[in-house]
Amino acid sequence: MIIWGSYVIRKELKSGQFYCPQCQTDRQYIHKLPRRWGHLYWIPLVVLDTHESYVECQTCSNAYQEQAIDHDPRREHAIKMAAIAAMAGQVMIHVAHSREAELTIGQIEKFTCGLLGIKKLPEGTEAQLSTSIDRSGMLNLVRERGDELTARGKELVLRAALGDEAIAPSTQTLVFEIGVAMGLTPAHVSGILAELIPPPIAKELAPQSRCPAEETVFAPYKAPAASVWD
Ligand SMILES: [Zn+2]
Repeated sequence: MIIWGSYVIRKELKSGQFYCPQCQTDRQYIHKLPRRWGHLYWIPLVVLDTHESYVECQTCSNAYQEQAIDHDPRREHAIKMAAIAAMAGQVMIHVAHSREAELTIGQIEKFTCGLLGIKKLPEGTEAQLSTSIDRSGMLNLVRERGDELTARGKELVLRAALGDEAIAPSTQTLVFEIGVAMGLTPAHVSGILAELIPPPIAKELAPQSRCPAEETVFAPYKAPAASVWD
């Protein structure tokens, strides 16, 4: 009797460590290529079919597409954090410069770490912040990375850059440009700015801007010096 038929042999292409989405940590994997062989007396003779290769976790046995080998959400998250920190830092630097102020890396670090919920600036961010970029470069960075933040996150970046002091029109224009480049609506940015710019009428009526009753707007009267000729 002739014994012939087919079976599947899973060829091991490579093995190593990868981030298993099921185990949610680093695990050993084997990259396998299943092929169906035609055999005669159990000796494989010819490949009948080649299936798609897959990556198998050696702990949970789950199978993934080949791309899983290079997919590491922790690394991607770290890259994203670094990019947002660099963007927020550049926004703060540019707004501070428009007010002729300087920020220390410590001030930037304190805010960006608070915003991102991390303990220290991501690796490489400090170097990125020491590189000065011009206004359009900063706005491009904001456009590229703005989508990474929620409207609330964008607002927090603007508020941190602004502080709580009144700002000059040139800074208002810059902040408006940044806010819109981030993807905030012009109305939203105007709302944030309006909190720092007292409306003229309110300013006029504010007690501290009114002249106290006991003072005068005029310089005090000075009696003319006695004539030297007397
Ligand atoms: Zn696993």
